Amino acid sequence: MPDSLPQVRLHNSLTRRTEPLQPLEPGRVGIYTCGSTVYKYAHIGNLRTYLFGDLLHRTLEYLGYEVRYVKNVTDVGHMRDDDHDSLAGPDKVELAAETEGKSPMEIADFYTAAWLEDEALLNILPADLMPKATDHIPEMIDLTARLLANGLAYEVDGTIYYDVSEFAGYGRLSGQQVENMRAGHRVEVEGDKRDPADFALWKHAREHRLMTWPSPWGDGFPGWHIECSAMSLKHLGERFDVHTGGIDLKFPHHEDEIAQSEGALGHSIVSVWMHGEFLTMDDAKMAKSTGNIIRVADLPELGHKPLVFRYLALTAHYRSKLDFTTDALHAASSGLARLRRTAAGPDDLVDLAAEPMARYRARFADAIADDLATPRALAFAHEVASASDLTHAQRRALLLDFDRVLGLDLGAADTVPAPLPAGAVELLERRAAARAARDFAASDALRDELTALGVEVRDTPDGQEPTARH
Ligand code: AMP
Ligand code: ZN
Repeated sequence: MPDSLPQVRLHNSLTRRTEPLQPLEPGRVGIYTCGSTVYKYAHIGNLRTYLFGDLLHRTLEYLGYEVRYVKNVTDVGHMRDDDHDSLAGPDKVELAAETEGKSPMEIADFYTAAWLEDEALLNILPADLMPKATDHIPEMIDLTARLLANGLAYEVDGTIYYDVSEFAGYGRLSGQQVENMRAGHRVEVEGDKRDPADFALWKHAREHRLMTWPSPWGDGFPGWHIECSAMSLKHLGERFDVHTGGIDLKFPHHEDEIAQSEGALGHSIVSVWMHGEFLTMDDAKMAKSTGNIIRVADLPELGHKPLVFRYLALTAHYRSKLDFTTDALHAASSGLARLRRTAAGPDDLVDLAAEPMARYRARFADAIADDLATPRALAFAHEVASASDLTHAQRRALLLDFDRVLGLDLGAADTVPAPLPAGAVELLERRAAARAARDFAASDALRDELTALGVEVRDTPDGQEPTARH
């Protein structure tokens, strides 16, 4: 019953507070995530942001909510990072098409497929809907026309600009004064705007442009921000619950989306805005434009499976920066191996609703419902992995249950090393207890017993690492 669902608290960038989520429809949550600009391979920084969206999706479903998850594909319109609103800047998708000798649609399809393959390798659950920007041009034109009619936009030679001075709430999300935003915009290329802080909704097409569409203002193409207003309103309705993206989308992308959607409809649309922090490398933002990137496909060369990166992402809260290092990746790998060892084993029937499992599940739920506190949830999973009041079957059942949120394939047979022979788990548990009590004589004797069974044990800071000889 929706009434009895656990309460979820989320940090809302708009109010700058962590607040209880109050779905517009009890028990149901609509989420929109800004998806990839599909002109290059996604890097693991981008994927950290999609992992954060996936975590929200999985957490809500674990807690019993019904989720409608929409994540778009940006296949037109997004200009260069440092010059986001320039008429002179080439479209990223078109530029890639030119460089690779393909059509824009081939480029977009190719990199969309690559992005979704990476998401699948990281166990990111598919969204319910992945609308493409190029399929929503009429909706974008319609919104632009409404903004003109509402006196919030103006036309200059076939280009339509949003007049930010007419929208009272402009700057509320990013907490900036319009003055500072002007200073932050690069303006030299667009002398025809009334105000440097204004941004384009629709752009007049110059020659050599491959992707253009007819509009009431002549042939052109959409600005970057209008696509997310059009797709979120169309697929989630005029009011919806949560909108997510990376921290750099707060301004200008989301600030502009609010101005567009609210300006067109005259009321607030999104209840909670959530932003994920960056993945960094050598303390610099991982970015397509600077080239300091790692892809999911690079992880095997570093000696790790993709899900080790998922584990690493869970070790940091989504609102904290996470620095990608090989040491951190190694630590993630042994943490993951430890959970998988505990989760390995035959399927025993365990009633998760009975005590003490229910109590353990409630504690896990508390952690994830507290603004997706994954470091706490993961630490708790490790606590369960060594809880002495649980049987091995109970520990395994709980970890597999938590894995509905963690998404680490904890029970997957192919990821588990050779199964341990009968009796080994019990010896390992006794040895762990002996080591905890600093009884090294007993610990050594138990190691000998394990060796006799064909199990080698390595002691690591994370505990024992057993390997079964075949
Ligand atoms: P883009 O494909 O450039 O539109 O970016 C897709 C998503 O990745 C957006 O939500 C960005 O905010 C996010 N993003 C870009 N770089 C990083 C990074 N280094 N760490 C985390 N998220 C990022
Ligand atoms: Zn967006």
